[in-house]
Amino acid sequence: MRNQTVLITGASSGIGQGIAIGFGKQGANVVINYHSDKEGAQATLDQVVAAGGKGFIHEANVGDEQEVAGMFKKAIEEFGSIDVVINNAGIQKDSAFSEMTFDQWNKVISTNLSGYFLCAREAIKHFLSKEQAGAAENAIGNIIFISSVHDIIPWAGHVNYASSKGGILMLMKSLALEVAPKKIRVNGISPGAIATDINDDVWKDEEKKKELLKLIPYQRIGLPEDIAKVAIFLASNESDYITGTTIYVDGGMTLYPGFVDNG
Ligand code: NDP
Repeated sequence: MRNQTVLITGASSGIGQGIAIGFGKQGANVVINYHSDKEGAQATLDQVVAAGGKGFIHEANVGDEQEVAGMFKKAIEEFGSIDVVINNAGIQKDSAFSEMTFDQWNKVISTNLSGYFLCAREAIKHFLSKEQAGAAENAIGNIIFISSVHDIIPWAGHVNYASSKGGILMLMKSLALEVAPKKIRVNGISPGAIATDINDDVWKDEEKKKELLKLIPYQRIGLPEDIAKVAIFLASNESDYITGTTIYVDGGMTLYPGFVDNG
């Protein structure tokens, strides 16, 4: 990954931050996108630089077409080219379905699904403009979608979130099919429970944590580094023959743990 340029959305905390630091350790140039948490983004950059990478922070709402275009323009100006785009920025706005407001629905779809579309489209436009498009030995560009186990596990009380993640699965696969002949790879990572701000109400509470562990056969909550390692693999030539695939990084959460001694 040395001197490769990697753009990561939502890299001011949690999984995005962990991925950014992972690529920093590899000596990559890292574009650290954030939305509201400038301090968090700066902390990510400090750790990327301390680890041996380079980078800059960039504020943009991934659900805003102009802001996304501006972010890609800035990244290309700064580093000449982009090699890897990691769509990671995501939110939850939980509610019982009958009480879910249209605003809660729209905000989640706008960030988690439309945001992934907008960033992927800018990435593809850029990759296709590279001279070697279609003719290179290895991939000329990589897109990784950070989805969730809820792209296949239904989630009551979180219909907007699960719908966005289910949408990402088909966005990823259909796009992978479309651009494979151009030597562009598109893959997904679906995390299980990873300890970040998005779910700290659960893993910081001993009772709730105990309940959560019942859903994780491997009996530990994941860390952002668990996701970073897989993202680095998917972005590297080590995985050159993999496209259109999702890797579930979930300690076995998708193995139907309720069936361990039932059914
Ligand atoms: P965090 O809440 O820690 O981080 C979310 C990140 O998304 C922040 O950097 C935030 O930026 C950014 N973000 C939110 N809205 C926008 C926006 N409109 N534009 C740009 N950036 C935005 O959550 P996680 O790290 O846990 O989540 C990262 C991804 O991983 C999400 O897609 C989530 O669905 C997925 N995931 C997480 C799991 C987990 O257990 N943690 C499990 C499965 C999937 P800022 O703070 O600057 O506003």
